[in-house]
Amino acid sequence: MVNCVALGLNGKQGISLADAALQSMKERSITPSPENYAVWLAYHGSFPQQLRADMEMMIQAKRVIDDQVCDQVYITYFEDISIGSRMVKASGRIAAEMAGVRKDLQTAGLETRAYSKKLEFAKQELAKTDHAIITRDVVDGLVDATQEMANQSRHLEEKLAASDAEIEMLRGELERVRIEAATDPLTGLANRKEFEARMSDMFAASDRGGGPITLIMADIDLFKRVNDTFGHQTGDQVIKFVATVMERVKPDSGLVARLGGEEFALIAPMADRKAAIEIAENIRLAVESKRLVRRSSNEDLGKITVSLGVSQRRTGEKPQDLIERADAALYASKRNGRNQVSHDGAQGSKAA
Ligand code: GH3
Ligand code: MG
Ligand code: MG
Repeated sequence: MVNCVALGLNGKQGISLADAALQSMKERSITPSPENYAVWLAYHGSFPQQLRADMEMMIQAKRVIDDQVCDQVYITYFEDISIGSRMVKASGRIAAEMAGVRKDLQTAGLETRAYSKKLEFAKQELAKTDHAIITRDVVDGLVDATQEMANQSRHLEEKLAASDAEIEMLRGELERVRIEAATDPLTGLANRKEFEARMSDMFAASDRGGGPITLIMADIDLFKRVNDTFGHQTGDQVIKFVATVMERVKPDSGLVARLGGEEFALIAPMADRKAAIEIAENIRLAVESKRLVRRSSNEDLGKITVSLGVSQRRTGEKPQDLIERADAALYASKRNGRNQVSHDGAQGSKAA
C-alpha cells in the first residue's frame, strides 16, 4: 500500500501530503478507510502517475468521486487479487457488518425491555398505595410508550435477522460459485485458471522468502487409443483415476490441477527437485500398477501409463518459464519411450 515512506518523503513533505489527502477526503465525505487514504495519498503524491492522471480526468469532468469510485481506483492500482477472493472478501464484509448492526439493535432492544420491566414494577408498586390516579396514568402512558418502542425494536430485530439469514445464504452461494469457477467438473481438481492464480500466489510467497517451488506435469500416454478402443466415457474414467492418484501423492502444501484433456500438473511450494522426482515416480508407478476394467463390460483396459516432467523454479523465474521447462521435460519423457519421469536437471534421462 502507498504511504509516505513508500513515496520517499521526509517528515514535513509527508505531513503536508497527508494533510492534503485528508482534506480531499473531507471535502468529498469519503470514508476514512486505509484504502481510501492510500488512494488520495497516491493522488497528491502523483504516484503512480497514471492514478493521478485518471483522477484528474474525473475531477475535470466534474465526476463525483465517492467511496465507490475510490474503491475502484484502489482495486485498479493497489489490489491485485483474483475476482473470486474479492467476491468472498466482499460478502464476508457484508455479513460482518450486518452481524454488527444486528447486535447493536439487539442491545438496544434489550435495554428497552429492561426499561419497560422497571416501569411495570413501579406501576405495580404504585397500585398498592393510595397515590394520586394521575400519577398512575402517567406511568401507564410511559409503559405503553415503552412497550411500543420495544415492539418496534423487536420488529426491526426480526427484519434484520431475516436479512442476515439472506446475506448468509448469499455468502454461501458466492462461495459455491467461486469454487465452481475454480474447479474442473470431471475430476473435481483445480482447473487451469485456478492453477495459474494459485501458482502466482506461491511464486509471490516464495519471493518473500518461502521455499523452492517444484512443478510436475503429467500426460496420459497414448490416451487417444483408450478413447478409440473403449469410448469416451471409459476415457473419462481413466482421467478420473489419474486425478485420484495425483491427489493421493500430493504433499499437503501442494496443488493438483487438470490443465486440460489428459494433462495434469502438481505444484508444491516446499518440495525440492529430488522430492518432486520421487513424487513423480510414485505417480508413474501407481498408475502403471493398477489394472483398470471397463465398467460396462468388465473388459481389461490394459496397462495405462503416464509420462511426467519435473522442473524446479530458478530464482526470479516467471510461472510461464517454469511451465515450459516442465513441459519440455515431459516431452523428453514421451520421446524416450513414455511411462517415465524426466526433469530439468538432466532432460531426457529416466529418473531413478
Ligand atoms: P501421447 O502419449 O503422445 O500423449 O498420446 P495421446 O494419444 O495421449 O495424444 P494426445 O495428447 O494427442 O491425445 C489426447 C486425447 O485426449 C485427444 C482427445 O480426444 C482426448 N481428450 C481430451 N479431453 C478429453 C476428455 O475430457 N475426455 C476424454 N475421454 N478424452 C479427452
Ligand atoms: Mg497424452
Ligand atoms: Mg496431451
